Amino acid sequence: MDIVNPVKRNVLLNPGPATTTDTVKYAQVVPDICPREKEFVNVMDEVRRELVKVVHADPKKYTAVLFTGSGTVVQDALVNSLVPANKKICVVNNGSYSARMVEIAQYYHIPCVDLKFPSTGLPDLKAVKEALDKDKYIAVVATTHHETGTGVLNPVREIGKIAHDHGCVFVADTISTYGLLPIDMEKENIDFCMSSAQKGLAAMTGASWTVGKIDEIVKSKGYPTRSYYCNLFMQYDFFERVGEMHFTPPVQTIYSLQQAIKEYWQEGELPRYERLSKCWEAVHKGMQEIGLTSVIDKKIQGKLVVTIKAPKDGKFDFFKLHDYCYERGFTIYPGKMFGLETFRLCNLGVITHKDIEDFFVVAKEAFRKMGYSIPIK
Ligand SMILES: *Cc1c(COP(=O)(O)O)cnc(C)c1O
Repeated sequence: MDIVNPVKRNVLLNPGPATTTDTVKYAQVVPDICPREKEFVNVMDEVRRELVKVVHADPKKYTAVLFTGSGTVVQDALVNSLVPANKKICVVNNGSYSARMVEIAQYYHIPCVDLKFPSTGLPDLKAVKEALDKDKYIAVVATTHHETGTGVLNPVREIGKIAHDHGCVFVADTISTYGLLPIDMEKENIDFCMSSAQKGLAAMTGASWTVGKIDEIVKSKGYPTRSYYCNLFMQYDFFERVGEMHFTPPVQTIYSLQQAIKEYWQEGELPRYERLSKCWEAVHKGMQEIGLTSVIDKKIQGKLVVTIKAPKDGKFDFFKLHDYCYERGFTIYPGKMFGLETFRLCNLGVITHKDIEDFFVVAKEAFRKMGYSIPIK
């Protein structure tokens, strides 16, 4: 597609939505269509099949179920739908997105074992195993693949193995890794993964999905129904019988997602991962030049998010830094760590290491304006 009217390009370094291409933006501009038409059902069908392929899942065993909403809607659907009556969910919790699944369980009054670990490190696998050895009522284990709040990459393959050894279903929140890091569902021992259109695939906000095991979805038909709008089996069943979402889908977002998937394959899984790794290296280089350090050990980072410690001399003002960068086309994001002033740089979208270098030119100016000489001592 030739773009006649390019849209002002912003480099988003916040944890999603991400920077998108103009071809993805313009893919939303389509003739008005009723989503119950065969033409749209075909688009939905293609998107569902492609979403299964991205995570190398066998379409005979796994399927994609989409929901209207941001990523949290899928966390909600999986937590509320996959726990049988009188059973529990166990959340391996070392950050704010795992904590969200604990909260969802609490809102639905689902018994939940909240296995809390410090958000600056990896979960203790021995403690996970012990918790599952001890409690035979746990039927589902859930955790976050990449904690977008800190940048920590969790060992999902190992956690999934422990879950399976105990006969549990394993749910991994891959919302900020899907389409960014190569994921093979079976190799990673993941029964249900998830994502959202505005994250790694760099489409528009409004559609989210899980790729999950068909036989587990079918089993869940007999589990307590705790939500009307986002029940997993109900949505799956409608897709299988009618080929579409039970209720109105985000039509234009689905068209942009279809285009974003095409661009994903055009770039390729590994080249994309390499492009993002280079962005992440450029973030570390820029930080070092300014004299800033990361909160999380580089060795356990997912190469997508860096949480940076703000200088503790009273001169640092996040909003000054933010506004100076924002006016120049770069969006940064405050941190999510209690008791420590931080900010985050996330490289999730269609950006290159060159964008990161350009960002640091601007960031250095902002630091000088705050009264720093660079490098900061
Ligand atoms: C973005 C994200 C979510 C969903 O957050 P929304 O506010 O609903 O978009 C969930 N988990 C992770 C790991 C995320 O990065």
